[in-house]
Amino acid sequence: PEGERLQKVLARAGLGSRRSCEELIGQGRVEVNGTVVQEQGRRVDPDRDEIKVDGLTVTSQRHVFYALNKPVGVVSAMEDPDGRPCLGDYVQDRETRLFHVGRLDAETEGIILLTNHGEAAHRLTHPRFGVTKTYLAAITGPVPRDLGKRLREGVRLEDGYVRADDFRVVDQVGNNYLVEVVLHEGRKHIVRRMLAEAGFPVDKLVRTHFGPVALGDQKSGKLRRMTHTEVGRLM
Ligand code: URA
Repeated sequence: PEGERLQKVLARAGLGSRRSCEELIGQGRVEVNGTVVQEQGRRVDPDRDEIKVDGLTVTSQRHVFYALNKPVGVVSAMEDPDGRPCLGDYVQDRETRLFHVGRLDAETEGIILLTNHGEAAHRLTHPRFGVTKTYLAAITGPVPRDLGKRLREGVRLEDGYVRADDFRVVDQVGNNYLVEVVLHEGRKHIVRRMLAEAGFPVDKLVRTHFGPVALGDQKSGKLRRMTHTEVGRLM
């Protein structure tokens, strides 16, 4: 048979499990090309049919997006020829070829997105699109009051200037500071290099947001499907 089952396409788009997508269909909340479809097992072509849920078009009908909380020590590659721990170790979905959206260095932990949408994976990392990334860095103080101003104005690195979009001190216990840095750069080790250049080598670095997608309380090593809303905001 041609096409794919509607509930499968909905589930892949992040609307829930296949079972809960069957419920959406049963409740008359799903339209295909302007007509409500309530029978189960309807086949659709995700490239051609327009699917709506509650009147809203389902984006990325063909695409799946995941957020991983990458642990320290894991290299940002789907496979590693040298056998080091890599992103592919955290993926059970063997149905689709996944790409990682940019990189985190091995020592850095936190959010990294994976998708089968190769073009989006590329586009989202391009500086031109300016997706902001948010990092928490542990540094040793004392941190001067004007550090944020200096980082926003720009720090000169050997491969050019880098400017933070935002900076704030999140926590301080004695000389141990936790600072948040927001930037839309993608150069290698950029946060570590920027803070080191400003005089504050980074002890620990965590990426807490990739654009509109937050790590929240997602456990280290845990992969989760992004929601329909998150995918919509990201694209
Ligand atoms: N900046 C870094 O220093 N490391 C990363 O992994 C990402 C940004």
